[in-house]
Amino acid sequence: MEEQKKEHRLLLMPSPLQGHITPLLHLAQILFSKGFSITILHTLYNSPDPTSYPQFSFHAIPDGLSESETATLDAVNLTDLINIRCVHPLKEYLLSLLSNSLQSVPCFISDAALHFTRSVCDEFKLPRLVLRTGGASSFLVFASFPLLREKGYLPVQESRLEESVVDFPPLKVKDLPKYQSNDPEAFYNLVCRFVEDCKASSGIIWNTFEELESSALTKLRQDFSIPIYPIGPFHKLLLTGSASSASLLTPDKSCMSWLDRQEHKSVVYVSFGSIASISEDEFLEIAWGLSDSQQPFLWVIRPGLIRDSEWLEALPSGFLENLGGRGYFVKWAPQEQVLSHPAVGAFWTHNGWNSTLESICEGVPMICMPCFADQKVNAKFASSVWKVGVQLENKLERGEVERTIQKVMVGDGAKEIRENALNLKEKASACLREGGSSHCFLDSLVSDILSVAS
Ligand code: UDP
Repeated sequence: MEEQKKEHRLLLMPSPLQGHITPLLHLAQILFSKGFSITILHTLYNSPDPTSYPQFSFHAIPDGLSESETATLDAVNLTDLINIRCVHPLKEYLLSLLSNSLQSVPCFISDAALHFTRSVCDEFKLPRLVLRTGGASSFLVFASFPLLREKGYLPVQESRLEESVVDFPPLKVKDLPKYQSNDPEAFYNLVCRFVEDCKASSGIIWNTFEELESSALTKLRQDFSIPIYPIGPFHKLLLTGSASSASLLTPDKSCMSWLDRQEHKSVVYVSFGSIASISEDEFLEIAWGLSDSQQPFLWVIRPGLIRDSEWLEALPSGFLENLGGRGYFVKWAPQEQVLSHPAVGAFWTHNGWNSTLESICEGVPMICMPCFADQKVNAKFASSVWKVGVQLENKLERGEVERTIQKVMVGDGAKEIRENALNLKEKASACLREGGSSHCFLDSLVSDILSVAS
């Protein structure tokens, strides 16, 4: 059986953002472990490191992005350009590959945001599966964008923020996906386009699991007449390998020995992912709130996190000395390892989907501070549906920060949140075992791919 599959080569293409590259490479590892040969097609911008994956072939699809474009454009505008400029190079690659390959190529697996792959694959009659790297609940909201606009919920109006969104409990208008940019229409259009092109695919693979998002997945199955494969959490399906090998930045592992010296469940791990940014004022309020909370903390200050600041220079003099070693700062952390460390008691997160899922898998309660896109939906589910976290609701201000940290770490509700988090961790693990939901969906995915190939 394994021998038979090695004859089949799968082509996978990620969107070139950290939160998309990691799950796609994990999926590739999972499918490789099932016996498929793998080729990763990637843009030149943010290209993955092939040396971390000697078992895969890598092929660059020139994206035509200039340095000034990648330095100044936001993720939506960059994705739009990639969707235009990669069409021709991908066609050329497929033309050559499909006429010369000795192996069968049963399908192409594309990140959902790369909607241009639909017309290219159609031209070559190549079945196209889509990987959606976000959650299913937020996707359902994305899929309803035209309806939400028709009903007046979108674009989000400041005066309606506290209003409940009918048909989407427990979401309020303030939880709807929003993208701060000069061109909000570009985000709306990209979302509508990729949803349409997901619908037209041969199936959607999700880095989620049935027990976590059953109601969204059930609804999606009703609305979309294609197979839906929730086979996550991907990183827990892998026997070896971790997010760090898919990292575009090098993780600073020195924080692990600092964690070793901290008390059990005492540390607040703070990270806002690979894209979000904060102002210098927000940075200072977070810093003072963490300091006043008296909890030890590990904080990822990625280059670009603080607008107009390089690193910690905005901190008042004496701040670090006064912490007395209670705070540890890194530019990039080995996040999965950090979250699984027994000293970590809470994760202050922006609720990117990967971070949310990684926290769930380790049973770590969350302090939710969503910034944009699907993060607000994820944060609402973490705090109000799964009840494994608390949202930082009001203004980002040091007193509020301190109170929220106390709520999650030691307050009356902290015990219940911790118990919920541990229950969910067990579900995240059970779904991967023999007979578990993700295990079964992965079997169907593999057999569906093979049925196309034969
Ligand atoms: N990450 C990491 N080290 C860090 C911060 C983040 O390895 O210091 C990883 C994290 O484990 C996750 C990814 O970067 O897999 C971030 O993806 P997510 O969807 O949470 O957020 P995004 O970066 O897309 O906003």
